[in-house]
Amino acid sequence: MTQKLKILLVASEVYPYAKTGGLADIAGSLPKALKQLGHDIRVIMPKHKCVVKCPLGMRPMGLDVTIPIGGTRKKGFLYTGHLNGEIPIYFVGNEAYFSRDPIYGTRHGDYLDNAERFIFFCRSVLEVCKSVEFQPDVIHCNDWQTGLIPTYLKTIYSKDKWFQNTRTIFSIHNLGYQGNFPSYELKTAGLPFSIFTPQGVEFYNHFSFLKSALVDADLLTTVSPTYAKEIQTKAFGFKMDGVLRMRSKDLFGILNGVDYQEWNPEADPSVAKNYSSKNRSGKLACKRKLADLFSLKIKDDTPLFSMVTRLSSQKGVDLVIEILDELLGEDAAFVLLGSGDSMYENYFLKMNHLRPDRVGVHIGFDEKLAHQILAGSDFLMMPSQYEPCGLTQMYALKYGAVPIVRSVGGLADSIKEFNRKTMKGTGFKFKPFTPDHLYQAVQKAMSVYRKKNQWQTLTANDMTADFGWDRAAKKYCQLYRRALL
Ligand code: ADP
Repeated sequence: MTQKLKILLVASEVYPYAKTGGLADIAGSLPKALKQLGHDIRVIMPKHKCVVKCPLGMRPMGLDVTIPIGGTRKKGFLYTGHLNGEIPIYFVGNEAYFSRDPIYGTRHGDYLDNAERFIFFCRSVLEVCKSVEFQPDVIHCNDWQTGLIPTYLKTIYSKDKWFQNTRTIFSIHNLGYQGNFPSYELKTAGLPFSIFTPQGVEFYNHFSFLKSALVDADLLTTVSPTYAKEIQTKAFGFKMDGVLRMRSKDLFGILNGVDYQEWNPEADPSVAKNYSSKNRSGKLACKRKLADLFSLKIKDDTPLFSMVTRLSSQKGVDLVIEILDELLGEDAAFVLLGSGDSMYENYFLKMNHLRPDRVGVHIGFDEKLAHQILAGSDFLMMPSQYEPCGLTQMYALKYGAVPIVRSVGGLADSIKEFNRKTMKGTGFKFKPFTPDHLYQAVQKAMSVYRKKNQWQTLTANDMTADFGWDRAAKKYCQLYRRALL
């Protein structure tokens, strides 16, 4: 084997300790694949309130770090545990900052002290490295909550011997979330005002944690090759496209993987009956169970569509709302698990009230139900406005729930259009963001559903598609080495 790397992966959420979306899945599963490749990989995250409830457990290390915040000093207490029984994970504890539920904000908006909370976290990460005597070759940062780490290393810590050989990689999981704060937060962070420039951390007169990383990280990645291209354009760039174009040669797209230890209908403890591509009979039991859970009145051959999603406009929810009546008119059924924007929540609850026989709705976040829905449904819809990678469509493949997706970002990269002649392909795609185009894709999907041999082949293609982490982990390692050159 080539040289073993010392890698610290930093994220604000890591499955199964804390999860609000795909970032947690990635931060929980990429380390396993890196470990498999023989590297010394460790993970660090804040000790959120939910972390304590995780059955994997943790213990106090008897260590603490002291972090300057504005004119004061705040303490972080360290805890540790293991991911997958072998990967050290560290938790930075501070009751006032992190003992909260939910982790980023409430229904009424983001927590007002989010800048301070994640300044504290970013700086703690560097101090923890020294405290636990881990000198990483690479710190792999993820999303804006970790965005100041590269900037600290290029400023306050630039002469720190502990980090002389440490390089940073920053992964963008969603450019729409930027961590933009008033400029006075630079003082909270202890960073010099000299970096508050258009070439530095300034972003439309705000101090942007995301831009900090885009400017200062040694290499940048995002979670699919198509999204890597899209974010360099005005249409998808959220006003960061200029910075990203400047860093174009340092920006790489690596499609996320799937953790098949967690997402596999053959061994999934959450589903009514296990099944596989070779023995599919369990899938029907799962469909019946799902219909039961939501009290749907459907037959075995009623096409059952689903969504498991954050309810935000990004996910194309508006298109689904536009076509739902027509879909039900085709004698189909629909199940939704999601939470988010109350306008969408209310709409789906209303539909559930009007058509309880055909529309099942659960508002909330429910990991077990997510598995049951993928196992029980025939189709998964993801008509996103934009989608950095998207994991749910790849999980759906494994569960034989055929994805109907908009051809953007990672959806474009992971789903191949099914061709009835060659019988190749894994799902149905459309491009223009209109209800009509979504509906055309839905109709194509339903006509294949009605042709038994085509449906058998399509779902076999889906269930045998391989999106394991090994491929992606190897690509990350190549980039870690490139950063170290
Ligand atoms: P994003 O990160 O943009 O939310 P992804 O498709 O990349 O979208 O990842 C979403 C992850 O969150 C998947 O694991 C999905 O199953 C899960 N998820 C989303 N909404 C819910 C929910 N309401 N309940 C349970 N799991 C959910």
